[in-house]
Amino acid sequence: MNKWLKKDLQYNWHPYTQMKDCLSNPPILIERAKGIKLYDDKGNFYYDTISSWWCNIHGHNHPEIKKAIINQLKSLDHILFAGFTHKSAIKLAEKLVSISPDNLTKVFFSDNGSTAVEIALKMSFQYWQNVDQKSKQKFVSLDYSYHGDTVGAMSVSGVDLFNEVFNPLFFKSIKIPTPYCYRCPVGRERTNCDIECIKPVEDLFKTKNKDIAGIILEPLVMAAGGMIIYPSKYLKRVASLAKKYNIHLILDEVATGFGRTGKMFASEHVDVEPDLMCISKGITSGCLPLSATLTTEDIYNAFYADYEDKKTFYHGHTYTANPISCSAALASLKIFEENNVLKNVNLLIPEFHKMLREFKKIEIVGDVRCIGMIGALELVKDRETKEKFSFKDRIGLKIYKEGLKQNLILRPLGDIVYFFLPLSIKQKEVELIISRTFKIIKNLKG
Ligand SMILES: *Cc1c(COP(=O)(O)O)cnc(C)c1O
Repeated sequence: MNKWLKKDLQYNWHPYTQMKDCLSNPPILIERAKGIKLYDDKGNFYYDTISSWWCNIHGHNHPEIKKAIINQLKSLDHILFAGFTHKSAIKLAEKLVSISPDNLTKVFFSDNGSTAVEIALKMSFQYWQNVDQKSKQKFVSLDYSYHGDTVGAMSVSGVDLFNEVFNPLFFKSIKIPTPYCYRCPVGRERTNCDIECIKPVEDLFKTKNKDIAGIILEPLVMAAGGMIIYPSKYLKRVASLAKKYNIHLILDEVATGFGRTGKMFASEHVDVEPDLMCISKGITSGCLPLSATLTTEDIYNAFYADYEDKKTFYHGHTYTANPISCSAALASLKIFEENNVLKNVNLLIPEFHKMLREFKKIEIVGDVRCIGMIGALELVKDRETKEKFSFKDRIGLKIYKEGLKQNLILRPLGDIVYFFLPLSIKQKEVELIISRTFKIIKNLKG
């Protein structure tokens, strides 16, 4: 192990990592990145097929984003955002309002996806207190959902291997079954489905709406839960039920925002209007931390009062609306417009999906699902019974290691191999990534 890695393991504690594993599998020392490639200290490169944790959009080290950051630094690095403001935050808030669903008119900045979610939950909660419907305190979420790693966000996420140890800390939330089509909770097939799985939501809203503040969902793609892609009809139905029963619809677009699904935001596929929307990951094209919670005039107005009324939203983070991050986000959104990013990526999407469907030829590929530049393959031990590989098989780790040998960063979620491709990717690169992954999975068995 070289001296940098030795020092890394001496001082750094990495996220989601059993540090003991690092003795045999030390982290890879990356020295530079350009476009969709990362280069290590030994001169190897890797295709960033997962957009550096679902963040990168226009490729690494984009010259326009770099320029924007440098320009911002010439005049202002950071200031507090209470009592003070700055032009980059003003321009960005205006821009975000213009590209998001029409009913969203106010922007509350923070610095990561989990805080954007915490803010949405607290805004919704306090809204009902402020408008004197004090019993509306509960949140509803899907049992495979993921909304972040802070305690509030975990409380509305699914309880799995990663967070079950913290279960006693969570506030009580109401879990509903996930519209996980491959493993349908009501035993339907995709061909005979009429969204029967909406029933529990309907029953719940009907009987408990006086106690429910909001429902939080990842629109169309439940990313960390296993890239579960559910029918847009489900989202549409949830949205209309929420409206009918006076329950906030909170959409967590942290992973799906900024073009991943082929539209700027996933909610545009169904034309729903959330009461609160959380965005982060892709907002700066993956180069600086930033997030925002967008909301409506109605919610904003419930906090807008005389100081003595005690309706203020007392929440904030030190690096709220950091000017450098805001400039990077503005530059990224400008690239979207000037380079027709969404239009171009929509030309590539059908090709990408066609290539993905080829994976069905492999025996252990139980399900292939895709939307936009996101694609997932659910591997199973037995296609008939959909039996999963055992936890101890660590099949994901095998694929990860094989991937590295083939210059690919594949980081399966358990048995689910996925692509979360940067929007700047070229067709040739998609072909190369897919064909190498195909070989890796095919060779896993025989
Ligand atoms: C990653 C993610 C989060 C959490 O974002 P962090 O920046 O890691 O805190 C929240 N919601 C969704 C849907 C995510 O994918």
